[in-house]
Amino acid sequence: MFQGSDRIVPGADGNSAAGPKDRKGQTLSMNRIIVTGGAGFIGSAVVRHIIGGTEDAVCVVDKLTYAGNPENLAPVSGSPRFTFVKADICDREAVDPVFSSFRPTHVMHLAAESHVDRSIDGPGEFIRTNIVGTYTLLEAARKYFSGLDEAGKAGFRFHHISTDEVYGDLEGPGDFFRETTPYAPSSPYSASKASSDHLVRAWNRTFGLPAIITNCSNNYGPYHFPEKLIPLIILHALDGKELPVYGSGLQIRDWLYVEDHARALYLAATRGKPGETYNIGGHNEKTNIEVVKTICSLLDELSPRPDGKKYEEQIVHVKDRPGHDARYAIDPSKIARELGWKPAETFESGIRKTVVWYLRNRDTWCAHVLNGGYKMERLGTGGGNI
Ligand code: NAD
Repeated sequence: MFQGSDRIVPGADGNSAAGPKDRKGQTLSMNRIIVTGGAGFIGSAVVRHIIGGTEDAVCVVDKLTYAGNPENLAPVSGSPRFTFVKADICDREAVDPVFSSFRPTHVMHLAAESHVDRSIDGPGEFIRTNIVGTYTLLEAARKYFSGLDEAGKAGFRFHHISTDEVYGDLEGPGDFFRETTPYAPSSPYSASKASSDHLVRAWNRTFGLPAIITNCSNNYGPYHFPEKLIPLIILHALDGKELPVYGSGLQIRDWLYVEDHARALYLAATRGKPGETYNIGGHNEKTNIEVVKTICSLLDELSPRPDGKKYEEQIVHVKDRPGHDARYAIDPSKIARELGWKPAETFESGIRKTVVWYLRNRDTWCAHVLNGGYKMERLGTGGGNI
């Protein structure tokens, strides 16, 4: 699948991470970016954006867990600027050589265990990857950074990608998560992400590692693993299965189209200020039941049920997730003001694109993912190994 699989692109000579030089010894402006978790949902959107929209080179470091899928990178895997290394971010012996050979100017750290329901069934892997893995990567980056010359140090960035779930629940309808909102995570997933955010901030403050953190709201879009709400509902609906809605379905999430997030992340990594946090969101607050009903009506239009009935008839309310947060909503004004980012998609345009993508890729990408062992079963009831 990967033409660049397990190959490491050599970096610039010497100790500079400022990029390769032209014949006159001038540094070229191309960045070399390590993307951890680049075979996942958001990571692959970031890689497709960088390879497709910039001159930069990318080295994906990914363990290829159940959530990592080489097919997500198929559109760019033939590029000479793309490299893939299969490695666990907790494995320092595997991570160090990536830094010394690829000589990154930037690290964009997305590798994580990301599904709240799985963190309830088995928190251990979340502690390992999200906390120990981030620590391991920070230490590898710190060692590499300390060996750079002044120009290399000035250009180097470590960008940690996190979630708005670290802030916990919002009370009033007019409240928003801001960069200054205190952390109050509710699930093992969000607690592990909060821990990793604290580590990154400490490595910036204590060791001077030029780190940036972004906290984003719920993403949706193409290549989303079907255990998450939106793809699960689309595929269940088409298969004639029940559409499970947790509890009342009145939990509010702030939805962002994944390609808008990928653009924001690239801006934050390349133009963000070290030591700063940026919240990313699209002002698209929807209740879960609204999201499910929107998908149903799009499917009624684009792929009607053979029996002529409405997809909404398949909706069932199931027992709520333990510790389920009621509302998340982001105030993205800082990244808009300081980095000039704004989303291109509304929820209405993004969800239509997403449903169309799943209809087009149902027999290919979706079928391959589902053949890989995941059977769209209910997770997150707390019934995992203790
Ligand atoms: P994902 O589960 O789709 O992908 C995670 C990727 O990380 C996979 O490719 C997986 O193979 C890889 N990975 C997991 N453990 C690893 C390890 N130990 N070593 C190397 N690679 C490993 O996740 P996603 O939804 O794309 O999320 C990416 C990041 O963005 C995560 O850090 C997540 O916390 C954050 N985030 C996600 C959302 C969202 O809505 N999905 C919102 C905000 C922030």
